Amino acid sequence: MAYDNNNIFAKIIRGEAPSFKVHEDERTLAFMDVMPQSEGHTLVIPKSPAENMFDLSADDAANLMRVTQKVAVAVKRAIKAPGIMIAQLNGPEAGQTVFHIHMHIIPRWHGIDLKLHAREMADFEVLKKQAELIKAELARV
Ligand code: 5GP
Repeated sequence: MAYDNNNIFAKIIRGEAPSFKVHEDERTLAFMDVMPQSEGHTLVIPKSPAENMFDLSADDAANLMRVTQKVAVAVKRAIKAPGIMIAQLNGPEAGQTVFHIHMHIIPRWHGIDLKLHAREMADFEVLKKQAELIKAELARV
């Protein structure tokens, strides 16, 4: 499948769709997932137009992982999560629903199940506050 320049994450990168950003640099963007599977669910994406892991250069993959690690540290501290799950889906068969590669950073707590994938919209005020907390931690990482 050819990369679709109008997928929602491409629009977020171009500033054509809103998002609660926690980090942005020349090559990478991180923002809150609007239908989080747990409190603090954050996404990290490269700005290069890659649908999945197989389209990324090794250098872009390494950069994506470097930024994901940094953002995950900040999410863990900001949301006070004992566990952090990192996930990344390739292809609809694997459950991918947005076809611009992204890393999921999903905080986990003992005994709290994940919410269904990409199902329920979060309260934007809550996302805004969480993004601010994560940004503040990122400034310290
Ligand atoms: P995938 O299924 O492709 O691995 O994950 C796509 C993720 O993007 C889902 O967790 C879903 O909640 C999230 N998502 C879908 N549309 C939007 C959107 O417009 N904004 C944000 N911030 N996240 C989105």
